[in-house]
Amino acid sequence: MACIFCQIIKKEIPAQIVYEDEEILAFKDIQPKAKIHLLIIPKKHFVSLNKVRKKDKEILGKLLWQAKLLAKEFKISDSGYKIVINSGKDAGQVVEHLHLHLLGGEELKNFPI
Ligand code: AMP
Ligand code: ZN
Repeated sequence: MACIFCQIIKKEIPAQIVYEDEEILAFKDIQPKAKIHLLIIPKKHFVSLNKVRKKDKEILGKLLWQAKLLAKEFKISDSGYKIVINSGKDAGQVVEHLHLHLLGGEELKNFPI
């Protein structure tokens, strides 16, 4: 079974896409944990941050930069936001395709960090 985020990239399953370019896709999380909850992903499949090699490291800066721009677009730059990357079992990573969570739009009380 193909990776669910790769299927979203290929438009094989629907998502509420909020940004797309050649390397990056961003869409609304299907089970939002905050009023604003976006996922920002590379189009290239990496199982987790662990699997990003040196030759691909520029994508990490691009993902973070896009998160910053989306925070502005979704009007949470001033009120505040969190960017989270879950990696592996102890972090509770469920989808094995690298993704940044961008969370905001309300006070983020239920996040321990
Ligand atoms: P993580 O626990 O970091 O792996 O987070 C995976 C996130 O992907 C969760 O917040 C899910 O709600 C979200 N998710 C799973 N499937 C979809 C989907 N088809 N469309 C949008 N978000 C999804
Ligand atoms: Zn994938």
